[in-house]
Amino acid sequence: MNDNARRIVANLAAVRSRIVAAAARAGRAASDVRLVAVTKYVGDDEVAALLAAGCSDFGESRPQTLWSRAERFRDSPARWHLIGHLQRNKVARTLPLAELIHSVDSPRLLTAIDAEAARLGRTSDVLLEVNVSGDASKHGVAAEGLAALVAAAAACPHVCVRGLMTMAAREGDADAARGDFARLRRLRDKTVAAMPAGTVNVQLDELSMGMSGDFEQAIAEGATLVRIGSALFEDVDLGRGN
Ligand SMILES: *Cc1c(COP(=O)(O)O)cnc(C)c1O
Repeated sequence: MNDNARRIVANLAAVRSRIVAAAARAGRAASDVRLVAVTKYVGDDEVAALLAAGCSDFGESRPQTLWSRAERFRDSPARWHLIGHLQRNKVARTLPLAELIHSVDSPRLLTAIDAEAARLGRTSDVLLEVNVSGDASKHGVAAEGLAALVAAAAACPHVCVRGLMTMAAREGDADAARGDFARLRRLRDKTVAAMPAGTVNVQLDELSMGMSGDFEQAIAEGATLVRIGSALFEDVDLGRGN
């Protein structure tokens, strides 16, 4: 094992134990929090090191990168999550390769995913991205628009909405982030309570929230998917031309 791989193994162990501790503090089972290793900063060697260390869920923010990674690691247990914006013209290539699309934020995108999933004879799992902070630079539907987006999803039988995703407004301010995470959880609870009877393809069990700087706060507020990149690659030399 080279130095980078050794550091990745150590970083992963540290992140996992912080997840376990944060879950314990919140009275939750650590097994209810899934780590999505965000690999957008790194090369294939680092992905391979994470896989060897037992990671199986990986997140990419650009669809094109997800395609090439998923193809390259086709014969591995890796599952690929799209965590960044998806344009409708990239839906067809993304659906067969993505385990979960975290970033659905418009009825038009839902309709495009529904049509492509129908064509493939399957359903596609998605999360609805909510801009809970109202920060204009963030993607996601406004909190006030979520009910309409859920109604649109309910009319897409080949889409299964598993939950909600958000990004905290101010990176580096974990306390402010916790407020955003609490808002997403309350919005989820409210949306579930208001769900029309007979809605079968919208279950909001998953909350994708928390990154390297604030995943413990997210777990305290109920995160089931934490998207962690930089904490896994601390002290890893990424300048080796990959
Ligand atoms: C890059 C990214 C992450 C990971 O961020 P880190 O701070 O490096 O852990 C999580 N979620 C999304 C949507 C991202 O784009």
